[in-house]
Amino acid sequence: VRTYTGLAARTQLCALQYDTVIEITTLSSSSGGNCALITHSGRSILIDAGISLKRTGVYLSALGVNIRDVDTILITHTHSDHVGNLRMLTKHLKISVVSSAAAADSVSKYLYPGTRHVPIAPGDEITAGGMSVIPFRTPHDCTGSVGYSITADDRRLVFVTDLGIVTDEVMAAAIGADLAVIESNHDIKMLKTGPYPSYLKNRILSSQGHLSNDLAGEFAVDLARKGTRHILLAHISLENNTPELAVRTCIGRLASAGASPHDCSVDFAPQFDMGITYKV
Ligand SMILES: [Zn+2]
Ligand SMILES: [Zn+2]
Repeated sequence: VRTYTGLAARTQLCALQYDTVIEITTLSSSSGGNCALITHSGRSILIDAGISLKRTGVYLSALGVNIRDVDTILITHTHSDHVGNLRMLTKHLKISVVSSAAAADSVSKYLYPGTRHVPIAPGDEITAGGMSVIPFRTPHDCTGSVGYSITADDRRLVFVTDLGIVTDEVMAAAIGADLAVIESNHDIKMLKTGPYPSYLKNRILSSQGHLSNDLAGEFAVDLARKGTRHILLAHISLENNTPELAVRTCIGRLASAGASPHDCSVDFAPQFDMGITYKV
């Protein structure tokens, strides 16, 4: 299944060259459900709550993490593939929820009564799981949609899916991260010639929709030029893309820009399964 295990193996080797400070594993990444685990010094946080409590628990225990020890869920936005299981998770776990202030009202509808909810303005900083977390606005057709920049000691990762274009604000937040999880949603040709109705095609292609492979590739080039060592392509469409095509497009853009695969690895987040653990 994993065509790019060579790259993954290289990533693991790279990780051995310095102490690991932050680890990230995507648990599911697509319109079918989104969730990722980030750990630092034995503490854990999740990004989004798009898969069931049971699946989340099974994946976490496979990673050696007890789901009851997760202290915070960061919510990117309130589309159902990101918050569909938030009520169940907050019902059964003693867990704090962080969202943008603009999304606070819509997020609160998904919370089990009594859940600690911390709305935060984009650009402000909070601590979650011992890590510094800063949300930044993303252009997406959902009020208060954000990505997150997460730092521990001198290591930083950025997580940004569900965005129509890479705005200056997104670029400013992402540039300089050691690892970037970026959306590579669709191949434009596959989308345009595919089965979706035109209103949906237009929604996805709009500046408030989802990021194409081409735009993700350009984004990756800018990030790699400023020192990002790992690009993880996420939220890959099931109908209008394939993981292989997303990775190939991104590697092609990086190669055209003169980046060596040794400088910046490219891999994808599996759409319905746990990915490998990246260490920065
Ligand atoms: Zn989504
Ligand atoms: Zn969305």
